[in-house]
Amino acid sequence: VIDLGQPEHAVITTCAYCGVGCGFKAEMKGDKVIRMTPWKDGKANRGHACVKGRFAWGYATHQDRILNPMIRKSITDPWQEVSWDEAINYAASEFRRIQDQHGRDAVGGITSSRCTNEETYLVQKLVRAAFGTNNVDTCARVCHSPTGYGLKMTLGESAGTQTFDSVMHTDVVIVMGANPSAAHPVFASRLKRRLRQGARLIVIDPRQTELVSSPHIQADYHLPLRPGTNTAILTAMAHVIVTENLVNETYVAERCDTAAFNEWRSFVSQPQNSPEAMAEICGVSAEDIRGAARLYATGGNGSIYYGLGVTEHSQGSTTVMAIANLAMATGNVGREGVGVNPLRGQNNVQGSCDMGSFPHEFPGYRHVSDTSVRQQFEEAWGVSLQSEPGLRIPNMFEAALSGSFKGLYCQGEDIVQSDPNTQHVAAAMAAMECVVVQDLFLNETAKYAHVFLPGSSFLEKDGTFTNAERRISRVRKVMEPKAGMADWEVTCALARALGYPMSYEHPGQIMDEIARLTPTFTGVSYDRIQELGGSVQWPCNEQAPEGTPTMHIDEFVRGKGRFMLTQYVPTEERSSRKFPLLLTTGRILSQYNVGAQTRRTDNVAWHAEDLLEIHPVDAEDRGIRSGDKVSVKSRAGETALRATVTERVQPGVVYTTFHFPESGANVVTTNNSDWATNCPEYKVTAVQIQRVTSE
Ligand code: SF4
Repeated sequence: VIDLGQPEHAVITTCAYCGVGCGFKAEMKGDKVIRMTPWKDGKANRGHACVKGRFAWGYATHQDRILNPMIRKSITDPWQEVSWDEAINYAASEFRRIQDQHGRDAVGGITSSRCTNEETYLVQKLVRAAFGTNNVDTCARVCHSPTGYGLKMTLGESAGTQTFDSVMHTDVVIVMGANPSAAHPVFASRLKRRLRQGARLIVIDPRQTELVSSPHIQADYHLPLRPGTNTAILTAMAHVIVTENLVNETYVAERCDTAAFNEWRSFVSQPQNSPEAMAEICGVSAEDIRGAARLYATGGNGSIYYGLGVTEHSQGSTTVMAIANLAMATGNVGREGVGVNPLRGQNNVQGSCDMGSFPHEFPGYRHVSDTSVRQQFEEAWGVSLQSEPGLRIPNMFEAALSGSFKGLYCQGEDIVQSDPNTQHVAAAMAAMECVVVQDLFLNETAKYAHVFLPGSSFLEKDGTFTNAERRISRVRKVMEPKAGMADWEVTCALARALGYPMSYEHPGQIMDEIARLTPTFTGVSYDRIQELGGSVQWPCNEQAPEGTPTMHIDEFVRGKGRFMLTQYVPTEERSSRKFPLLLTTGRILSQYNVGAQTRRTDNVAWHAEDLLEIHPVDAEDRGIRSGDKVSVKSRAGETALRATVTERVQPGVVYTTFHFPESGANVVTTNNSDWATNCPEYKVTAVQIQRVTSE
């Protein structure tokens, strides 16, 4: 036991990890954090926390932190430490050189859901106003961009409908493509409390997650569908609801676009959408599909929580719309205990999308082609802005490989490790002439960088994060930026070096500018957040001065809810004789995403490598036992993992996590992506597995 002593003071801030957004007290002795204690008044967590937020903050002071700006002319040269001015001026001169030689759109920026709202807002402002292009994107591209598209099309707003507390009023829960016990543990504990009180549970997931069967919880239905068939199973459930007269006709007549509903009703009623027809496609019995649909439609307040197992598919956006269809058809949107709830992976996925870091949208999800909106930003920022959407992240890679995209500013995102088909991404990065990485560590992406700008950890920041329930929470500086400049100051300095005036005295001024320009944020300020107890859920404006816990109460944001047709289209990624198994991916409790933070903490003691889960039948066929090293080969690439033989996965399906660069799960993932948003299809990769070495 290490005696950390008694704290002398504490600072309230917000966790750096998942989309639950737990409030924490950083307890300090002198200028050192000695412990992170969950904040009992935090509205997202109410005094709870998980092993990541509570114990995995040591990365902030890890020896791997890079604290000096660095440049190099070529990615094969050694790094050279330089002053902040020199690094920023060099980056700016390179971006301008590239634009002079190759055109305005030859450069762009990527921001991250690990950055605050204020930092993300500044990155898109820099790209739009200083670079003069809409080539800006966020890592939400590769996780929840289909949520933004699907919920906007159906309900009218790109956000979840409820508070986390709402789950305490639910009667039937569908958890689809999500493993909250590992990825959103504090929400999971609230959900489990409600389940122990008697709420019913349907889990739709290829894998037997902890929720399916644990000592105190047994799911009423587990639909272990074949990876890639989400749309099929939801359309089959809709078929049951329509053909067995389980639609909430009054709700639909009053709240929804009835022409669209009637079209949807006749579409889902078709025999090819019946559970019997879809059962073989999904690998789930028709009887279970029918039972789950009946339970959701008739069991009282029905709520749906979903994760990346929904979005990271070639039909990710279609599946999100299929979820919204089910909720509208059964009258399950617009009050406590119901709703459609994306479980966001990172703490500020919602915020990074809200802040306009998409190539087609300004802050507040307003399209760049909207002249009146564009004029508003042009007046506020004092520049003329482009009306054509810019490049998405995968388009940037393609453009780099074809020679038309040459310069990238990448803040807080390790795209080389995070994005699919690593070889493709690495080749694109190597083809660029100026890559500027702003991060805590020399990550995989920094291997392709020409300028490295040291980032600041959440303990060194002032700002806000917006969690999965639209809750804007304050992040407060616990210590001064270790490298001497906060991330927002670096972005401003880069803009000024590019010749665009961008200065603020404090991130609170950035939030004031966001509020002036974003209708759903007009009532948000740091003072107002403080008055409201430390957080507020947007929309927060004249109509909702105290924020909005539940959305779409009297009408949908878009007016009438719109049913969308959700035709199942099989993914192009098929198993074959050569690649007979389907690989899907997920997370473990103690690690977080690509592990850049948690791998640099004591959490590695709980989980030190990524493992490949394989069913006993498939393992026996290949002579594999738990502990064996196996090769995992796909059409895109090959990696090696240690196997664990388990019935948590179905025959024909294998599963791994992606926390360690050595195992490189993304070496094998493909270039397939969601048809509407280009969110990569991480969740379906046809692979062959062979034993390499014995235990
Ligand atoms: Fe809360 Fe998520 Fe942080 Fe865990 S990782 S403490 S659940 S915000």
